[in-house]
Amino acid sequence: MKENPCFASLPDAYLFRETGEAVAAAERARGRPLLRLGVGDVAYPLSRPVVRALCRASREMGDPARFRGYPPTEGYPFLREAVARFYADRGIAVTPESVVIGDGAKSDGADFLTVTGAEEILLPTPAYPVYADAAVLAGRRVVRVPTDLSHGFLPVPPDSRHTGAVIVLISPNNPCGVAYPRALLEDWVAYARENDACVLFDSSYFAFLRPGGVRSIYEIPGAREVAAEVGSFSKFAGFTGLRCSYLILPDELRVAGRPLRYDWLRRQSTRFNGVSYVVQRAAEAALSPPGRRAWEKTVARYAHNARLLADALTAAGIPFTGGQDSPYLFAACPPGQSSRAFFARLLAAGVATTPGDGFGIGGEGFIRLSALCREETARAAALVFRALA
Ligand code: PLP
Repeated sequence: MKENPCFASLPDAYLFRETGEAVAAAERARGRPLLRLGVGDVAYPLSRPVVRALCRASREMGDPARFRGYPPTEGYPFLREAVARFYADRGIAVTPESVVIGDGAKSDGADFLTVTGAEEILLPTPAYPVYADAAVLAGRRVVRVPTDLSHGFLPVPPDSRHTGAVIVLISPNNPCGVAYPRALLEDWVAYARENDACVLFDSSYFAFLRPGGVRSIYEIPGAREVAAEVGSFSKFAGFTGLRCSYLILPDELRVAGRPLRYDWLRRQSTRFNGVSYVVQRAAEAALSPPGRRAWEKTVARYAHNARLLADALTAAGIPFTGGQDSPYLFAACPPGQSSRAFFARLLAAGVATTPGDGFGIGGEGFIRLSALCREETARAAALVFRALA
């Protein structure tokens, strides 16, 4: 067999698989679980409205009169309409036709990189590693837009031109936990328009924004012609194990004189057979008024965890970003200590984190903490950080 040459340009293992193995080995050595602040998986269960919808839909699937087979590739109308209503309630006009349901922002985001003819993927870095890895696997060139602590990890558009590129903007960002201010998003939209580029706005963490933060790229004038937006039910509604996402492709976002959505649906109908009925009913319930009230409470619990961790880092004199608009905190390693060394030291102290170097240039010298844990875990980890002072 001939190896796909793209694999030679990738790190040997996906970041979270690699660190997961180190965490499991540390747990075996200690003989008890670590305080897990590493992978950004959620800790609190699905809400009652979601569980009720799952049960109802499962019963329908066992009823000969109401059983359903293959779902529509683009998602059931009831969920596409619920997503459109959810945006309308925030004053953003999104048509149900422009919403395409998917099985996660990871697959939607990674696959989106190849739906245009873009040869270059512009990626503000440090960033969620999926985008760089997926671009490399698809034979695309990754152009990093570096950021650092002195700029609050907020990337500005480059001086150079990158005509026709896909620009990935994650806000609030993973791993740095910062949200792009409105003026910066305006600069990026202007840059995309000048360069005939296409923004992919990843809003997976919108629910963690403080009031006044930009929750959708469509709040920025002129974005509809140049931006797609991906959203995930994973973090706010706890769907990491159920899997559901949506991709918004407005009519105004056009390629070769027609909506880019046509090409996306052409791709999806070839390679994807839709999200299960049961999961789509659960996602609909998460967007219903009782569903929203439930996850707002859960998000507030995670935000409280983030504050506990932020206070501990402050008390220990450790500089960090994030934790206010996001469940992530990006904390500086002690002077002279690499991300991997600090990660190992914290593992030995009983806390699992993620080494920042795994998120690309600018991540070395930092570790990422996830507050998507139970409060007891955040409290116990906070004590470990305070003891570093
Ligand atoms: N996008 C970002 C920025 C993420 O951080 C994550 C998960 O951590 C995802 C997408 C994946 O979301 P999903 O669970 O919907 O695939």
